[in-house]
Amino acid sequence: MPKKRYLCPICGYPDLKEPPWGKDGATPSYDICPCCGCEFGYEDARPEGADKFRQKWIEGGGTWFEPKKRPEAWDMTEQLKGIGT
Ligand SMILES: [Zn+2]
Repeated sequence: MPKKRYLCPICGYPDLKEPPWGKDGATPSYDICPCCGCEFGYEDARPEGADKFRQKWIEGGGTWFEPKKRPEAWDMTEQLKGIGT
């Protein structure tokens, strides 16, 4: 069975191992996105906080929290399309 992966709601990183807000969507994992560095349940606890965090991350040029995980041909704009921005 292929392992399910989840999308980061902030940056659109498509390879999260746990759902950021739990299976019920109300239990944050407190995991940190390797891409944008958002801690689920903390920075994104309120929608306006999530938007602010995303904006800051984009303005900062999309720095990876774990640069080793960044694919060589990574494209921030392409990834953000995954969450409809
Ligand atoms: Zn992210």
